Amino acid sequence: MPISQISSAERGFSVSAGQAGDAGLSRNTTHNGRRALRVARRHVVARVARNEFKSVGMRSSFDRVCYCGMPVGPEIPVMSDGFSCWPSGVTSCGLIWVCPVCAAKIKARRALQIEAATSAHIAAGGTLAMMTMTVRHARVMPLVDVLRAVREAWARLARLKSWRDVKQFLEGQVRALEVTVGENGWHPHQHVLLFASAGVDVGELNTLLTALGADWRRLVFKFLGVAPSVERGVHLLEFGMDSASIAAGYLSKVANEISGPNAKAGRDPFSLLGDIDQGDALAYARWIEYADGMKGARAFGFSQGLLARAGVVDMTDEEIAAADSAAGGVVAYIQAEDWVKALRAGTTDDWMCEFELVMSQGLLPFLEVSDV
Ligand SMILES: [Zn+2]
Repeated sequence: MPISQISSAERGFSVSAGQAGDAGLSRNTTHNGRRALRVARRHVVARVARNEFKSVGMRSSFDRVCYCGMPVGPEIPVMSDGFSCWPSGVTSCGLIWVCPVCAAKIKARRALQIEAATSAHIAAGGTLAMMTMTVRHARVMPLVDVLRAVREAWARLARLKSWRDVKQFLEGQVRALEVTVGENGWHPHQHVLLFASAGVDVGELNTLLTALGADWRRLVFKFLGVAPSVERGVHLLEFGMDSASIAAGYLSKVANEISGPNAKAGRDPFSLLGDIDQGDALAYARWIEYADGMKGARAFGFSQGLLARAGVVDMTDEEIAAADSAAGGVVAYIQAEDWVKALRAGTTDDWMCEFELVMSQGLLPFLEVSDV
């Protein structure tokens, strides 16, 4: 039996009593609730990974999350910019699909890169358009099948005349892969941000994009057996001249929490973690299917030279996750063994909130602590 079909009950996944989904995960909703939610969700992923190893006897595809946030030295320097506090000197897993903490960091950096590229492009007289390419999906379709159809259709499309014709009008493009999960199962889709050259005839470009959309539907039918509808297969959104940041924000969906439970196309897969924490066996199985299915998939793809032209140095997801991106000073140190205990208990963010509270009362800048 595939491991994704084993229920959480069979795996003996333990559930803490008295927690209510994401509401239970985000106890600190009054202070930096999103960060608290990300840390709490990462803790659930790590618990699932450890549980997989214990019950199935093999390391899961996302085992690295168990080591995300571990100390690299004997103590953790707590950094602050005078308002927020964050740990420094900790490892990062860099797994954008499965680690809510690393995903937020990577997406925030990608948004800055995309914004730099779009700003430079618009300053040079270019325009932007967003193409969203979907497939028709059903509850019974396994994620790997739907995802494979999206990836193979795109790979094949990139070699066709319709895409070469469109590319003649472009300075480059950014592709972002996204997956949601909902009533109708998995919904992988991709956004392609088109950097149209200065002075292009938008009418002509639109005609070419219609031909591209027809090829997309044909290819999806070839790889999935079901064609997307004419209206929904390829959706084009044109951005105005002043919309570099809108385009960047839309493409990178910086906050994972954006897709809430009422989002039409489904929920962010990270929301499954709240259900898992409540003991939802289906959510557990779906998470395993998702984590295994997304392994190795590239979330963002930049056409060659696009970032370099904007003076942006490209980095891998792992490099972004590992970088100390925010500027701040050390306000406290936490002993590594205390930090590891808190990490295992899922309470590291409580610590940061404590420091921030103390800071807001003007009691830092420097405090050496071994226990809080
Ligand atoms: Zn991570």
